[in-house]
Amino acid sequence: MTQLPLSLWEAEPILSHLSAVADELQQPSYLVGGCVRDYFLTGSLVPSIDVVTVGNPTLFAERLAQRLGTTIAAEYRRFYVAVVKWDRYEIEIVASRRESYTPDSRNPTVEPAPLEEDFIRRDFTINALYIGLHQQEKGVLLDKFGGIRDLLAKVIRTPTDPARTFSDDPLRMLRAVRFAVRLGFDIEPKTYQGIIDEAYRLQIVSPERIVEEFHKILMSPDPVRGLKLLYDTGLLKQFLPEVAALAGTEMQQGYAHKDNFAHTLKVLEQLLEQRPDASLWLRWAALLHDIGKPVTKRFDEKLGWTFHLHEEVGAKMVKSIFQRLHLPLDERLKYVQKLVRLHGRPIGLADEGVTDSAIRRLAAEAGEALEDLILLCRSDVTTRNPRRRDRFLQNFDRVMQRVREVQEKDNLARFQPPIRGDEIMKTFGLQPGALVGAIKETIRQAILDGIIPNEYEAARAYMHQIAPYILSGKPVPEELRQNPQDKKRQG
Ligand code: ATP
Ligand code: MG
Repeated sequence: MTQLPLSLWEAEPILSHLSAVADELQQPSYLVGGCVRDYFLTGSLVPSIDVVTVGNPTLFAERLAQRLGTTIAAEYRRFYVAVVKWDRYEIEIVASRRESYTPDSRNPTVEPAPLEEDFIRRDFTINALYIGLHQQEKGVLLDKFGGIRDLLAKVIRTPTDPARTFSDDPLRMLRAVRFAVRLGFDIEPKTYQGIIDEAYRLQIVSPERIVEEFHKILMSPDPVRGLKLLYDTGLLKQFLPEVAALAGTEMQQGYAHKDNFAHTLKVLEQLLEQRPDASLWLRWAALLHDIGKPVTKRFDEKLGWTFHLHEEVGAKMVKSIFQRLHLPLDERLKYVQKLVRLHGRPIGLADEGVTDSAIRRLAAEAGEALEDLILLCRSDVTTRNPRRRDRFLQNFDRVMQRVREVQEKDNLARFQPPIRGDEIMKTFGLQPGALVGAIKETIRQAILDGIIPNEYEAARAYMHQIAPYILSGKPVPEELRQNPQDKKRQG
């Protein structure tokens, strides 16, 4: 029996409250799951605390809330779960339970049961560690399946027969991958084989549950490894067959095209190197950017392998993927589609000969996503030839440079001086016409050239200086048309 030091209770007052409630109700109760696992890994208590109680969870939650001067935050009576929030903590109280599955059911029947039954319904040994809260077992560690051994060895292992664990709730296979990438653990070989064998069962899991786990994998420190594991185990093709289909290469007349799955992973990796805090949707865009390739692939006698229009086709596929997985069909979908649709565009625009309007069109179509698009394009350069690589990357720098130039030009074209036409007309008693336009334009140029600041008073004073010349048909003298700084430089 392992007894933990009770100093933890002094350091974390929440534990004393939990213990007090367990004793008051005479309900054996335990910390369990992620908070115990992470305590052993980090030495501190995470804010999301799971408590399992042998007895009534609602009663436990009520008493706890009372003690803490709050109320129950959420309750799922049907599942024997209640939630209390206090301070930085979110405490989920669950009844010790048995879960029974029939082969074709998505959801188990759940009923309260002794702790022995609660042990075996846990997904992994490292998540099946219990620390007693009530007087008789306070600080006692229950480790029925060697969870501590597995934490030390850094392995993910199911507590019982993997086939059984995964068949009962196939989502656990995604959880295995999630914990592996989040913790940097390996999946123990029998458990790994169990995933391969049971991967097809993922079909019965709802898209919402799948996506929730998948998003945690995508947002983990190593989504590339996560995606490899998902692919290698056969899980990926159960819910993202379009991405799995990127894998592999084909040979025609001695020409093979690249493996687009490996390429996609490289793109994601390079993207995260440049922007480690990339948003979930930018990660999705990287994952899906070449999704149109397998269906548009052709071998052309002259050109070799082509993927004509794969960007456009890909953008359409993004929508059907989002629909199928119940992902949001709002601006987040549009953003991912936009990046997929436009990811081939910038590379063609680095050339000096490209028109301003082509640059303008790209900037307008990309809108606020322009920076992300260029980042994706840069990450899309996966050639190993350093010269080619540098050339591509420089091209993207040049595209951004040209976008900035064109934007600047456009801003200047739109720029209006602080003196308006009607004020010029009133001041000099003019009718609308060329003279008003000439005065206004001279003021505009003076501001653009930096001769006067872009301010009303300065523009007005300048107007009075230059107007007499223009009105009498004489040229405005040089000294009024030159930036004082330029003059200094010349002198
Ligand atoms: P996190 O740090 O992400 O909260 P966690 O391990 O606490 O990780 P939760 O989803 O909060 O995960 O679940 C708490 C505990 O409940 C798990 O540690 C595990 O013991 C058990 N559990 C959760 N989901 C499942 C499942 N699908 N099958 C079996 N056990 C599960
Ligand atoms: Mg948890």
